[in-house]
Amino acid sequence: SALVVAVDGPSGSGKSSVSREVARRLGLAYLDTGAMYRAATWWCVHTGVPLADQDAVAQAVRDLPLDQGVDPDAPHVVVGGTDVGEAIRTTEISAAVSAVATNLAVRDELRRRQRVAIAVEAAASSFSEGRGIVAEGRDITTVVAPDADVRILLTASEEARLARRARDVHGSDDDAAVEATRDQVLRRDADDSTVVQFHVAADGVVTVDSSDLDFEQTVAAVLQVVAE
Ligand code: C5P
Repeated sequence: SALVVAVDGPSGSGKSSVSREVARRLGLAYLDTGAMYRAATWWCVHTGVPLADQDAVAQAVRDLPLDQGVDPDAPHVVVGGTDVGEAIRTTEISAAVSAVATNLAVRDELRRRQRVAIAVEAAASSFSEGRGIVAEGRDITTVVAPDADVRILLTASEEARLARRARDVHGSDDDAAVEATRDQVLRRDADDSTVVQFHVAADGVVTVDSSDLDFEQTVAAVLQVVAE
């Protein structure tokens, strides 16, 4: 029957790349919910909706023409016919996304869509053995899919998270690159923390600390939790 795996964690914990690889290894679908908040933010910026206007942002997101793939080998994020896979990862969008994600009406809408996406995979898989989905974000284990079969909080020390983010964004984890990353990552996590709780595991959620693990070891640790 269907396997639903929920993974949450702060930025730089490695949860996106690890969750995607876990989905690939297990033959499951993969839902990147952060990409949905990023796509919503891109749409507002692109169509000129002022991010400070909560009602206008909420309405724009209710109408968000989002097409997101859940194949871990071929992820795509298309908004209104435009492939925004790269555009949603810019520093401009990263800096703006918390303003959209802390809008509770936005969260209601995107959480609804996430539950639909998870339910579709769970239902489709009841016809064939060994299917399901890995859904990853900040509030999947607690709010979107609290009844998931497996719930994991992927954490890492602040030092490890900043080094990882610096390598992703600047191609280096020397002091200058880490400093350039620090403010952005910590501010975004602090802003996000005002509406979602992803620094401490909720009841029944298994913590995987990736501070001292490389990518392969982290994937193995998550697969181990799924197998238990
Ligand atoms: O995971 P990623 O860094 O791409 O997430 C981008 C942003 O989307 C987060 O900083 C947060 O504001 C928002 N987000 C959220 N809830 C989720 C996933 C992401 O609020 N489940």
